[in-house]
Amino acid sequence: MKADTEVLIVGAGVQGCSLAYQLSKRGHRVMVIEKETIASGASKAAAGMLGAQSEWEGTGLFQEFALESRALFEELVPEVEALSGMDVSYVNNGMLKPVWHKTEEVKYQRAAGHGYGAEWLPAREALRREPALSENIRGVWSIPKDGQLRAYEWTTALAKAAKACGTIIRENTSVDRILEADGRVYGVKTNEGVVEAEEVVFTGGSAGAALLNEKEFTLYPVKGECLSVRMPQGNLRYTLHTPQVYIVPKKDGEIFIGASEKPGDSSTGVTVASIQELMKAAVHLVPELKDANIERFWSGVRPQTGDGLPYMGQTDRGLWVMTGHYRNGILLSALSGSWMAARIGGKSVREDWKHLFAVDPQIRKGGVIHADHA
Ligand SMILES: Cc1cc2nc3c(=O)[nH]c(=O)nc-3n(C[C@H](O)[C@H](O)[C@H](O)COP(=O)(O)OP(=O)(O)OC[C@H]3O[C@@H](n4cnc5c(N)ncnc54)[C@H](O)[C@@H]3O)c2cc1C
Repeated sequence: MKADTEVLIVGAGVQGCSLAYQLSKRGHRVMVIEKETIASGASKAAAGMLGAQSEWEGTGLFQEFALESRALFEELVPEVEALSGMDVSYVNNGMLKPVWHKTEEVKYQRAAGHGYGAEWLPAREALRREPALSENIRGVWSIPKDGQLRAYEWTTALAKAAKACGTIIRENTSVDRILEADGRVYGVKTNEGVVEAEEVVFTGGSAGAALLNEKEFTLYPVKGECLSVRMPQGNLRYTLHTPQVYIVPKKDGEIFIGASEKPGDSSTGVTVASIQELMKAAVHLVPELKDANIERFWSGVRPQTGDGLPYMGQTDRGLWVMTGHYRNGILLSALSGSWMAARIGGKSVREDWKHLFAVDPQIRKGGVIHADHA
């Protein structure tokens, strides 16, 4: 019997939508099933930083993936904007990592991961570039290639581009179970009935973790809270990134300030303590922010894995899994989508990345050091 679709994707977050777009662009028949609405999970909450150098210290296979993904945005953003008719507010003028102490300055001056124009700037030069910075900083680590965009708009635009290439997206439909027969996955059971597919891909993020009940997965939630403000006049010129806080000025003047890190927490509230801490760190870094008007606050739940590496591979039963991108899922979405589409389409891909992101714990290797945990 013919399946209902060739590839069925569970979850319309940034991973699911990026994969759907890349698959349907290559001519595959794709259906996405989303229990709520497009980009209603972590992908709605993200600050949208594309921090391939600000988020990694040192080098390694995982960072190579992140760097390649960051580079892909340059061609992918215009392509997706044209197909979707949306503006995703892509800003590509770099990030600054302000530093307060001599020890940090030495660390950054020695840091591996230089390249792509990254350089140390003493305070005077840093303040010339971003006059709103506190005059007490020691200097900044300037990363000209780390950009940013609006994550919700990016995810929605990917979904629209996927639809334009033939993807069917069913919202408000929950996948209750992944179905298998004779040890092979063949579809899903939803609240509206069974859907059969040649390939099933899990992109359900933290909210969908219960569907992955195999023992090889260690997936846990890390809640993050953010707020946004607007300055009475003007805007910041650069995204600012420190261990305590990041400040992300959007094109239209809204400034995102984030984010808390609460491992094991998947609740939806936003606490006074978290917002107070973020605002304090933000004003310390950019004193004029004390006069900014608060616009909104929100939270989201990042999908994190036991060893910090995403799962991008296939189980013994044939289920494809693409999740666990933790705090860099927007950055990684560009290459994750095209890389997984190539794999599902039977194309050869880099073996070392296949091993790194494998579902089988015996095959996964290496680790990742995150720069800091704002
Ligand atoms: C506060 C915060 C700030 C962040 N900032 C950044 C940043 O600046 N840069 C960056 O790169 N990343 C950032 N991230 C991380 C990024 O948001 C995530 O890594 C990414 O959004 C994960 O995407 P996803 O598609 O895997 O999951 P999600 O976006 O959570 O999508 C999963 C989808 O699956 C659906 N689903 C779940 N279960 C089912 C089911 N049973 N049936 C049907 N559908 C289901 C959900 O409803 C959801 O829509 C941030 C995250 C947070 C919380």
